[in-house]
Order: sequence, then structure tokens, then C-alpha cells
Amino acid sequence: MPNLCEFCGDPATKRCSGCSKVWYCSEEDQKYHWVEHIFDCKPKSEITTAHYLALAVRRNLLPEDPQTCEDYGFDRAFTAENRSKLLGLYIGLIKYMDIPAKKIHKWRINGTLIQEIKAAFEKLPPASRGGYYPWFLQNQYVLDSSLQPPSDLAQATLAPGRRYVGLPVSLTQEQVAEIVKNWPKNKQRCYSLCMPLLSHWHPAPFMEEWLCFGFCTCTSEESEMGLGALYRQLLDRCTFEEFCVAFEASSIIALFDHHGFKPQRENFHNLEDVLSGSPHMNKSVWNLKQFVMNKDMQLIPSVNVDYGFMNCRTPDEFAELKGLYKQLFDLEYKTSFDPVELHYAAIKGKILQYASGVLKFKKGQKKLYTRLMRNPYPLAEY
Ligand SMILES: [Zn+2]
Ligand SMILES: [Zn+2]
Repeated sequence: MPNLCEFCGDPATKRCSGCSKVWYCSEEDQKYHWVEHIFDCKPKSEITTAHYLALAVRRNLLPEDPQTCEDYGFDRAFTAENRSKLLGLYIGLIKYMDIPAKKIHKWRINGTLIQEIKAAFEKLPPASRGGYYPWFLQNQYVLDSSLQPPSDLAQATLAPGRRYVGLPVSLTQEQVAEIVKNWPKNKQRCYSLCMPLLSHWHPAPFMEEWLCFGFCTCTSEESEMGLGALYRQLLDRCTFEEFCVAFEASSIIALFDHHGFKPQRENFHNLEDVLSGSPHMNKSVWNLKQFVMNKDMQLIPSVNVDYGFMNCRTPDEFAELKGLYKQLFDLEYKTSFDPVELHYAAIKGKILQYASGVLKFKKGQKKLYTRLMRNPYPLAEY
């Protein structure tokens, strides 16, 4: 079979020299795809938050990486509307003016991000600057922490969540943190879910709430947003106390159904699998997904044992195994891979067989994977 271009799918003759794993039909396609491929390749220079920003721009989705949100002002934009306007500003810079991530990173490090953004837009004739630049001129506090955001804005964003969980809107963030700290753990988790949801945000993949409220079962950011919207509808119908009680009892699914959301929640494949165990039990396969999807995630002991990371002798082997699981989860939107099936394969001690049925192993890989994908299962019955 000929090699196919990673970007357009045409027959390809040029191989990525960084990782030697993917092919391209042309330098043009390679350059265009680099914005995404840099995260899977072995880049020579450091991946910065500007690269995450460029990826968000490419996908036309708000960045989820927390450091990126902090570095590029999304944290200080407060409302969904302002966050998408800020993204629009960066789309102008990166997509239309073709300014590379490296350069934007440098601007930020040098402390000249705001001036450089202005300089770039001012070079364009006023009629071509679009609507986001004028918005930015009015809202520079997003990137300039010496400027105060409009106080009603910060307040207005927090108010719906505060009212819902029963905390006075007038308290400062510090006072709220002090109160919440003394709540039971699972109530804190519900709080950490509801606050962002009620300001039209949803938990990001590195967060514990992403796992325990089932966002980990989503196969795209769009579907995560959809699940967030479904939770918002549910919160509209039940009190915070009811929600907390249901979570503690692993019965959020029943709560959805009770309020008439059964058809909607059934659209989220595997949601019931996670919510019927959470917060007391969940399959380590979801931790595995979180681990492979986040760069700086710590490996938890059950994933280490269940998925064979303990068998790796070198960092390269570790990276190889992690990369293989990443490939599997990248197929999750297709029916060829279901994390729950991987879980059942793992407890039978048959990960290798399962993975090789879904992915085509290259010659020579199988021997290594045979050693790595071993675990202590199935346990002897007693
Ligand atoms: Zn191509
Ligand atoms: Zn590469």
C-alpha cells in the first residue's frame, strides 16, 4: 500500500523528518498540518502555549489548556461571548495575517504582546481590521492585568453559579474558597462542575471533574460542549442539594431520566458507564484516556499496572506505549474502538489481542508490544 498524506490523504512521498512516522504529499501540506502534528511529533524546539493557541485557532475552538488560557487572556475574558471575541482576535492574527506561534510566544515573553497585536492590526486598512480588533481596544484588561475588568462583569459571571450553590454573590473569591474547603469532597466536586457550567464553560480534560462527570466519554470538544449544555438543563430542573445527593449515590443517570432527559443523555455513548460508578468506582480505562490526552498528567498506579506501563524499561518504551494508546483513543469517534471494550480486554489479560485487532501493527512492533502489554490479569478465582 502506498503511503498517504497525513493531511489530504493523497499518495505521499515525503516523510516527516522529526518522527519518521507520517507522510506528506507536499511541503505545503506538511507546513499546514504542522500546527496539529507538532503535538504528536518530536519537535526540536519547545512546545509553548502559543502553539496551543495556534491549535485552538486552527480548530476554531476555545483553548482548554489552563496555562494557555492564562497566558492569552481567556481567563480574564469572563464571559463566553468575550472569550469567543478574543479567539476571533487571534484568528485574525494567526490565520489571516499568518503570524507564527513562535513569534507570538516571543511577543508575550518580551512583554510586548499588546503593542505587537496593535501594530499588526494597525498595518491593515481600517475597513479590513474586522470587528474583533475594535472590541479588543475597548477590553484590553484581558491581556493587561494592571487594568481592572468592569466589576459588574466579573460579578455577573459568578452570580448564577453562586446563587445556584447557595453562596452570597457579595463574597470575595477568597471567602468562597474558605467555605468550600470545608465541604465534603463530593460536594466540592459538584461545586467545581456547576460553577463553570453556569458561566457557560465546561471542565477541561486535565480536571478531575472531566472524569467523574463523564466528559471523558466524549469524542470531540463539540460533544463536551453538548454534554455541558445537557448538564445545564438538568441544573435548571433540580437543586444543588439534589444534584449532590444523586452524585454521592452514583445516580446522576437516574436524575437525568427523572427530569425527562433520557433520550438526550443516551446520545452520549458510555456516559452511563461512567456515571453509574462515579464517584466511588470508575474503570481505569478512563484514567488511561485522561493520561494519554494530557501532556503533564501523572500516571496513576492502576493505569500503570492494568495497561502495562510498569513493563517499560526505558523512557522510549514508555513513550511508545503511550503513543499506541493515543492512537487507539484517536479512533474513539469511529466505532472501531470503544474504551469499555479495552477495559474488558484488560481484565482478561488480552490488551495486545484487542489492540492488534483495532490497529495495524508494523512488523517488529509486535514483539515489543507483547512484552509491554502484559498485566497480572485475569486474576485467579478464589
Ligand atoms: Zn497532502
Ligand atoms: Zn513528525
